[in-house]
Amino acid sequence: MPRAQYIEIECKSALNRVEGMPFKWSLNPYRGCTHGCHYCYARASHTYYDLNADEDFETKILVKVNFPEVLRRELGRPSWRGEQVALGTATDCYQPAEGRFRITRRALEVLRDHANPVGMVTKSPMVLRDLDVLADLAGVASVRVFFTITTVDLGLWRTLEPGTANPLKRLAVMRRLAEAGVPTGVLLAPILPGITDSVASIESVAAAAAEHGAGFFGASPLRLAPIVKEHYLGFVEASFPDLLPRYERAYPRAHAPRDYQTKLDARVARIRARHGLDEDSMRQGRRVRGGESEHALAPVRRGRQLGLPL
Ligand code: SF4
Repeated sequence: MPRAQYIEIECKSALNRVEGMPFKWSLNPYRGCTHGCHYCYARASHTYYDLNADEDFETKILVKVNFPEVLRRELGRPSWRGEQVALGTATDCYQPAEGRFRITRRALEVLRDHANPVGMVTKSPMVLRDLDVLADLAGVASVRVFFTITTVDLGLWRTLEPGTANPLKRLAVMRRLAEAGVPTGVLLAPILPGITDSVASIESVAAAAAEHGAGFFGASPLRLAPIVKEHYLGFVEASFPDLLPRYERAYPRAHAPRDYQTKLDARVARIRARHGLDEDSMRQGRRVRGGESEHALAPVRRGRQLGLPL
């Protein structure tokens, strides 16, 4: 991977109102992500900053240096109702930049001080560094840490998510968090048609999740919004050329065909039940203190021949 350039900026707001997602508020201390997953839906957001969704997204990382202070101000407003927030939805809040800037850690300290519920998504073992803050936060508010695991096939992992930590390391860290009393889960998201949608592939991720202490198992199919689609189809053409016509047929719009989604949902539900995992995709949240209910978040074979037909 090319070397990352960190661009320090000041943000005006930290809380971001979200539409059309299973959560209402998001927090993203960074923009861009050196993890460089080819399917990443956040790539498109880099173009808002006059940067491109390809190499710029992976190498030009915007660092919101005043983020914790702004968040503290916003959570202190009388109008803030203590709703659950989703941390790290358009960037991995534990990408390598966090080792240097520690903005996510300081944001968690602010959330702890305000007993504010949070759901977090990451692919990084660095989250273990902040176990102390997370454990404190879990004592006063609802906390859930989701580890995105799209595959446990190590060859496939390197192709799909070139800048991320080995999924087996992520799972080991998940187990440590679960043992420390922090609720954890696995998000198999996105499921990639023809690449990770076979029974064998989903089954292996669910089994690994259950073995490593996951309480929840969420999954969702690939969505290809404009800009993201161009990047992803370029990747498919280079790495899985025989799948390209199938993708072009199936994705005239952003979502996979409804029939495909229905069959995939049923497949995931069967596998989830077999492994005794609860469904969760950051939809539900509950405040521990104050009693007020909140609702805001809610070795594999590639098995391509067993993938669902698009
Ligand atoms: S880790 Fe998440 S935010 Fe980062 S590139 Fe991968 S999918 Fe995108």
